[in-house]
Amino acid sequence: MNTTTEKMSSADLIQIEDKYGAHNYHPLGVVLSRGEGVHVWDVEGKKYYDFLSAYSAVNQGHCHPKIVGAMVDQAKTLTLTSRAFYNDALGPYEKFVTEYFGFDKVLPMNTGAEAVETAIKLCRKWAYEVKGIAEDQAKIIVCGGNFHGRTTTIVSFSDDANAKDNFGPFTPGFIRIPYDDTAALEEALKQENVAGFLVEPIQGEAGVFVPSDGYLAKARELCTEAGALFIADEVQTGIARTGSLLAVCGDCSCGNSCQKDPQTYVQPDILILGKAMSGGAYPVSAVLANDEIMMVIKPGQHGSTFGGNPVAAKVAVAALEVVQEENLAENARRLGKLFRKEMNRIIENTDLVVKVRGRGLLNAILINDTEESETAWNLCVAMKENGLLAKPTHGNIIRFAPPLVMNEEQLMECVAIIEKTIMNFEK
Ligand SMILES: *Cc1c(COP(=O)(O)O)cnc(C)c1O
Repeated sequence: MNTTTEKMSSADLIQIEDKYGAHNYHPLGVVLSRGEGVHVWDVEGKKYYDFLSAYSAVNQGHCHPKIVGAMVDQAKTLTLTSRAFYNDALGPYEKFVTEYFGFDKVLPMNTGAEAVETAIKLCRKWAYEVKGIAEDQAKIIVCGGNFHGRTTTIVSFSDDANAKDNFGPFTPGFIRIPYDDTAALEEALKQENVAGFLVEPIQGEAGVFVPSDGYLAKARELCTEAGALFIADEVQTGIARTGSLLAVCGDCSCGNSCQKDPQTYVQPDILILGKAMSGGAYPVSAVLANDEIMMVIKPGQHGSTFGGNPVAAKVAVAALEVVQEENLAENARRLGKLFRKEMNRIIENTDLVVKVRGRGLLNAILINDTEESETAWNLCVAMKENGLLAKPTHGNIIRFAPPLVMNEEQLMECVAIIEKTIMNFEK
């Protein structure tokens, strides 16, 4: 194999990754070299529908011209100053993003995990300096099945053996309760020194678990009563993915422009965003909170060399503008309903799939086999052959999360691919 050859085949490229890259992922056997909108192409030129969207980072579609344009323009002008100096893109972005989501302030970071870490630090510091919890005693409640990223502290409160085993010793200070269980939350909040409750409004990695109606509102209420911060990790569910700007918006009337419909909106004290903040063009994450919380962090107490860099700032503004200009929340809501209706129709005619669940265009189907089985994986391989890319999460669950710029005709084409694959599949 010659790595300097112009065109390497998929097989060559898989082999070179396998030899020189750490084996911390197990990708589907497809090597992509181009993307546009809802489509990606492999190195042999075969076209696919992307039904994962880089774990919901590419909500705005691949290589969105407005986002790429903003990125390229800024990259040619000024890429990084560090926060040792001001830059002319950060302030305007901060004003834009805080108004967009309705918080006093933003703390810019790069990846989702960093933003979660930031929220944890912020919550703890607030607990000591505002709430008055005794030194080193603060506890944060988290949920079973959570996924908040891969840092040492975050995996400390995971219950996924893969994420956690042999990475100890772990960071203390977390209480884990079952997800979607307000009684358990009420009990946990009675413990001493509880600083906050960190939750995914819909659990994505766990397999797209949508909690019961009213769960988030009740959790918010219980946190308020207990004087604990309600921290929403919307890294995956945010930015129109679930059919409203944020999953905490619920089934709101304002659709795209988060007007905080009082009937449905659940106000987090700390909001964590990442992934589609940049439309998948660049690592951009953010933590939003009001002054009472955000102002506990003073100069030198937290930061990131790249956080808030001018390219990230310009990319995020463009990416969030696209969400509104192209009505992505409304589109996700409408197509999501259609998608689940179609999946339910397919389920009636097959024993292979038992259930579809989700909200907006964050959905999953449950395969009629064990978590250890290869069925879901093999089904994804077969869908790949038929021109649609998706990946199992947790063995027997397949997540379906296409870019939100998809239209109805394309969605129905995807439904046809999924249906054909299921109907022709032999275990
Ligand atoms: C992906 C994800 C993260 C971590 O984001 P990274 O950018 O991969 O570090 C955190 N929380 C949730 C809910 C996620 O889906």
